[in-house]
Amino acid sequence: MEYAWEHELQTGLSAVRDAARICRSVQSTITLETFQKKDKSPVTIADFGSQAVVCRVIGDTFPNDTIIAEEDSAELQVLENADFLHRIHDEVCRHCVEASKDQICRWIDRGGATDFTHRFWTLDPIDGTKGFLRKEQYAISLALVIEGEIQLGILGCPNLGQTVKDDPQNGSLFYAIRGQGAFALPLEGEGEPRPIRVSRTSDPALARFCESVESGHSAQGASAQVAERLGITADPVRLDSQAKYAVVARGEADAYLRLPTKADYREMIWDHAGGVIVVEEAGGKVTDVTGAPLEFVHGHTLKNNRGVVVSNAKLHDVIIDTIRAVGVK
Ligand code: AMP
Ligand code: MG
Repeated sequence: MEYAWEHELQTGLSAVRDAARICRSVQSTITLETFQKKDKSPVTIADFGSQAVVCRVIGDTFPNDTIIAEEDSAELQVLENADFLHRIHDEVCRHCVEASKDQICRWIDRGGATDFTHRFWTLDPIDGTKGFLRKEQYAISLALVIEGEIQLGILGCPNLGQTVKDDPQNGSLFYAIRGQGAFALPLEGEGEPRPIRVSRTSDPALARFCESVESGHSAQGASAQVAERLGITADPVRLDSQAKYAVVARGEADAYLRLPTKADYREMIWDHAGGVIVVEEAGGKVTDVTGAPLEFVHGHTLKNNRGVVVSNAKLHDVIIDTIRAVGVK
């Protein structure tokens, strides 16, 4: 029997692997000088290259599907950015497929949908750009949403090994299909998918939290207060990107808190969709800070949600209660 979404899964895995080759190649060019100059060109090149190759594969295979992705090619087409387009072209041709610059821009713009439709993909070509520049964690996140429900999610994590502290070796790939579980496999090379499960931790004092490295993306002071009230003594593990969802899904952390830093910030769907289903299918739970489910029916933002709380399910209610008690809004 053919499983539901098998064709979409194989297509998505192949697309994410193509993108990861480009990201790895570009990341390997980052030098101390890039850091010192605060030069963001590597992330620009890899971001657009990644989006081009993922949208190429998805659009060629499923021409009727829309894709809500982070980038569009407008800025690449202005003269001052000719050098960027040249370098993106070079990476795409070297690691994926021969194509003209115009073709690459057209692939990027396949990701230009913003509105909700009954069947769409959402893509973050490089989630965690700051981690990418620091040569730490980043992810390529792809999800398929049908009638507002995520059915398939894929996370490519090129710098994530068997544990957060391990050498990344071939990187990690995670995927989940609604009702069929969540799996991990090496991003590069051979390897059978291995089912993953969230932790069984039920004592809040023993919970291991993870959160964003960037204090502008998650209110770290508020999450420290939540941890203190729960009796947690261990420091949070800080890492960039949706690698945090993967780390909860495989039971290495018990929760991921993303508490709002600004009243008017709305989370972007591509920063979450791929990770959400991986955690849910591994037995975990994902809501916003009020305990409400995330709503993937409002186009590119999670318009009605505030922040995000991810857990092994067992700890979810106590975390939400504590967030409320601390007064996070
Ligand atoms: P992380 O790697 O978990 O720190 O998250 C990276 C993502 O944070 C980026 O893809 C941005 O879309 C998103 N982001 C940017 N500003 C904010 C903010 N004020 N609050 C939450 N997320 C943000
Ligand atoms: Mg992102």
